[in-house]
Amino acid sequence: MALPTYKRILLKLSGEVLMGRQQFGIDPEFVTELAGEVKSAKDSGLEICLVIGGGNIFRGMAGAAKGMDRAQADYMGMLATVMNALAMQNALEQLGVPTRVQSAIEMDKVCEPVIRRRAERHLEKGRVVIFAAGVGAPYFTTDSGAALRAAEMRCDALLKGTSVDGVYDSDPKTNPGAKRYDTVDYDTVLAGNLKVMDASAVALCRDNRIPIVVFSIREQGNLARVLAGHGTQTIVQE
Ligand code: UDP
Repeated sequence: MALPTYKRILLKLSGEVLMGRQQFGIDPEFVTELAGEVKSAKDSGLEICLVIGGGNIFRGMAGAAKGMDRAQADYMGMLATVMNALAMQNALEQLGVPTRVQSAIEMDKVCEPVIRRRAERHLEKGRVVIFAAGVGAPYFTTDSGAALRAAEMRCDALLKGTSVDGVYDSDPKTNPGAKRYDTVDYDTVLAGNLKVMDASAVALCRDNRIPIVVFSIREQGNLARVLAGHGTQTIVQE
């Protein structure tokens, strides 16, 4: 199914994607492959904002489950997303793509703070802007960070690159008969608790009419295929 022509997108990658074939952490070779996908999308003329999760390093919920204070654990998770952002920045710049990292937790030795107008300018100049540290507050996820940045940067769509090729009516891992939606509306996703992004992120996209395009980033070349309209994906929209 052909996608509308987007001018500016926000690409959200879960931290797990950066593990490549590893069980934990960052696989630099795989990050370079991902950076290549981002470069191809950018070379096609798109303005690109990126948000990367931190689940390959640390998730607050996992820390809390083992007795940590949730907020403290969430701050560790946010710092993990900064590491991933720096890894992606490194890989993109090695491919000649200019980038800036903006973090919701200020750390001026390594990156810029989030400043919307400055991010606008970076995009105008052809830079990829990587937003790190989610929304900068515990009890949120990088999905919410992605929805927030997509809204404030007025992105035409939020593309969520994950390990599955779309949204299913039930879990395809446990139900072989599960059906993938081509399109589905926000309220069906929320009411059915379908696995797309967390509810607050979906609601923010709904309220700001930002389509969410869910696709698999695991297969090489898939981002370009999805953007060109011959990939497999689910679009969550009105
Ligand atoms: N996190 C947070 N606030 C945010 C974004 C992230 O507290 O605005 C923390 C939270 O602990 C989360 C972790 O950072 O578990 C890593 O982010 P996420 O789980 O969204 O990563 P992903 O699943 O996309 O890899």
